[in-house]
Amino acid sequence: MLEVEAINVFYGQVPAIRDVSLRLDDGGILAVIGANGAGKSTLLKAIAGQLRTRDGVIRLDGEDVSRSAAHQRARRGISLVPEGRRLFRSLTVGENLMTARATRRKGPWDLAAVYEMLPIVAERRDRRAGDLSGGEQQACAIARALMANPRVLLLDEVSLGLAPAIVGQIYAGLPAIRAQGTAILLVEQDVQQATRASQDVQCLL
Ligand code: ATP
Repeated sequence: MLEVEAINVFYGQVPAIRDVSLRLDDGGILAVIGANGAGKSTLLKAIAGQLRTRDGVIRLDGEDVSRSAAHQRARRGISLVPEGRRLFRSLTVGENLMTARATRRKGPWDLAAVYEMLPIVAERRDRRAGDLSGGEQQACAIARALMANPRVLLLDEVSLGLAPAIVGQIYAGLPAIRAQGTAILLVEQDVQQATRASQDVQCLL
């Protein structure tokens, strides 16, 4: 469903990722690991259309989206949960979730479904996002991405710096997401976490 073929991304003249390829099927999961600076965030941003690839192809459901803008890819079902979450801090959790309406596709994820999968998000629904802990914000960012009913969910460093309990709640929710047919590409520095979540692990060098 998602095919990345030999993509290269440069920052100016400096290569960030070279000849990276991967495949994800419907409901599949792939973990990408790598050291600091290996290019994990760059890979996710390139797939989401926030960075341009110099060479190679990115296909979604067989169609080349390599030159589509980020908002077009979002409408087609590529949802990125970026490092740092990027929530609207002055809006409530519920209001943040509603901002996903712009790119919302038909599908199983609505407010009730995301609240059921991530109870911590339901409990905090009327709180300002800026007042939440890092883990609560991460859960909220994932819930917001799901509200778009993505074909593929890109998760950047979900467990970084978070309390184990909330990381556990987030990872426990991944099978339910996949069961709806959504594929997950997650990047992790924590190799144990990555291998627990996914049988397929790819390493960026
Ligand atoms: P981390 O785990 O630290 O986030 P990462 O594997 O996600 O690392 P990237 O953030 O994708 O790695 O960075 C890959 C390479 O590109 C690094 O060498 C980094 O210094 C460089 N890089 C990242 N962002 C930029 C930028 N905006 N301008 C120039 N170089 C950048």
